[in-house]
Amino acid sequence: MNTKNHALLYHGKAKSVYKTDDPEIVIVKFRDDITAGDGEKKDTLSAKGHLNSIISAKFFEILEAADIKTQYIKLLEPGVMLSHRLDMIPLEVITRNIAAGSLLRKFPFKDKQEFDPPIIQMDYKSDEFHDPMINDDIAVALGFVTREELNEIRRITLKINQVLKIFLLEKGIIFPDFKIEFGKNHKGEIILGDEISPDSCRFWDSKTCEVLDKDLFRKGETGVMDAYLEVASRILDDNEKEKWDIKLV
Ligand code: UDP
Repeated sequence: MNTKNHALLYHGKAKSVYKTDDPEIVIVKFRDDITAGDGEKKDTLSAKGHLNSIISAKFFEILEAADIKTQYIKLLEPGVMLSHRLDMIPLEVITRNIAAGSLLRKFPFKDKQEFDPPIIQMDYKSDEFHDPMINDDIAVALGFVTREELNEIRRITLKINQVLKIFLLEKGIIFPDFKIEFGKNHKGEIILGDEISPDSCRFWDSKTCEVLDKDLFRKGETGVMDAYLEVASRILDDNEKEKWDIKLV
C-alpha cells in the first residue's frame, strides 16, 4: 500500500501513523526500524514491520474476543494496520510476571524471580526525559490521566496479562514482561493502542527459556528475525500462516 497519498500524523521510532478520509480512523505502518538503549542502538531488519504487525493483529484479535477494547480494525496487508484514532496517553505501562531487564539493574530482585500478583510499573514516555519511572501523583499532576483512568488502565492491563499469559503458555511461550500503551478515543474511552510484539514484550521458550524477542538485538546477538518468525509461527493458526505467508517450522 502506498502511504504517499496519506498525510503523516506521527512518525515514531518503529511505526508511522497516517490520516485517512475518516478523522476517527488512521493507518498504522509498522516499519523495519529497530532501536534500543534510548534510541542509541539503531538498525533496520528486513521483514520486522510485517512480522510485528501480524503478531500485534493476532494479539489484538485475542484481546477483542476477551472483551478488551483495542485500536485494531484490521490488517490491510502485512505492515499496514487500519486502526481507530486515539489521543495517546504518554505512559508506558509495563507488567512484570518474572524479574528481568531494567528491574534487575534498578532493584535487588533475584534473576527470574516470579511475581504473583504481577508488578505494574509505569514510565513517562519521553525521549527528552529518557522514559523515567512515574507514579500516580506525578501522572495526575502532569494532567495525563485522572485517578479513575489510572484504575481503569490497571484493571485492563491485568486482564490483558491474564489472557495473553494463558494463550502464550499453550503455545510454549513464557511471558516475563511486556509494555503497552493506551489512548482515548473520541468518546473519552480508554483503549489499548500501540503494538504487542517481540519489540515490546519478553517472550521465552517455556522449555529452554530461549529468548524470542528484542533482547537478542539489545545484546547484539544474531537471529533476531528468526526469533520473531518463531513467535509468529507459534501463535498463528495454519490458515493465518498461509494468508500472511509465514514460512517456518
Ligand atoms: N519496553 C518497551 N519499550 C521501552 C521500555 C521497555 O517496549 O521503552 C518493554 C521491554 O521490551 C520489556 C518490558 O517493557 O518487555 C520491560 O522492559 P525493561 O524495563 O526491563 O527495560 P529493558 O531492560 O528492556 O531496557
